[in-house]
Amino acid sequence: MAEQRWEEREEREEREARGVPGDAREVRESPGSGGVAEEARAWEELVATARRTVSEGLVVGTSGNVSVRVGDTVLLTPSGVPYDRLTPDDLTGVDLDGRQVRGTLVPTSELPMHLAVYRVTDARAVVHTHAVHATAVSTLVPELPVIHYMAGALGGPVRVAPYATYGTDELAENMLRALADRSGCLLQNHGTITYGTTLAQAYDRTAQLEWMCRLWLTASSVPGLSPSLLSEEQLQEAAERLRGYGQRG
Ligand code: 13P
Ligand code: ZN
Repeated sequence: MAEQRWEEREEREEREARGVPGDAREVRESPGSGGVAEEARAWEELVATARRTVSEGLVVGTSGNVSVRVGDTVLLTPSGVPYDRLTPDDLTGVDLDGRQVRGTLVPTSELPMHLAVYRVTDARAVVHTHAVHATAVSTLVPELPVIHYMAGALGGPVRVAPYATYGTDELAENMLRALADRSGCLLQNHGTITYGTTLAQAYDRTAQLEWMCRLWLTASSVPGLSPSLLSEEQLQEAAERLRGYGQRG
């Protein structure tokens, strides 16, 4: 009982701090909602991830975008707003049909790509960047040559989705085809997109993809030599092993 009262007080304070009208329990209990506190936490993590894409050099300015799914609500970075200016009050979200259900800022122009990923995969987070080596590779080949086993962490050889104008349904469709059985792909003459079960996983996959692209560009730029490739079997073996990588549990 005392615990429940404490929870209610926490929720009320959080609601007041964010200026959310009405009873937080109504929001928490509405269909598809993950709850006010959970959304606030997810938003904080989303903003931190978006800032990281800038500080670690994967994008410049307001390029790229990040989203996270909480229940049937998708929180997304707003379009064209510098990530260091985002506050808890800027929480922006849509339902799975793209209708705005949280905030007033215009969601990222790449909403069709983000929603397409959530509709057809079990993704809980999506990261899109213009990482320089990955974008360079997207202009050179239809698929990133497999010169490192970390391709297994993305489900296999990373494809390049054919070019389409940013923010269009056509780009989202091209991306979905390139993403089949993969958790990431390149977007021709544009950048990267990866997804995961957490923001940390989606971000890490982008960082690994950018690293693999830098590796291939480096190895393939030695005059007179070309990098050796891994066979399908070698990659599959590594991919299986990667499923048990790291600590127990
Ligand atoms: P937004 O600022 O609308 O998210 O656009 C950035 C981007 O990368 C478009 O492809
Ligand atoms: Zn982009």
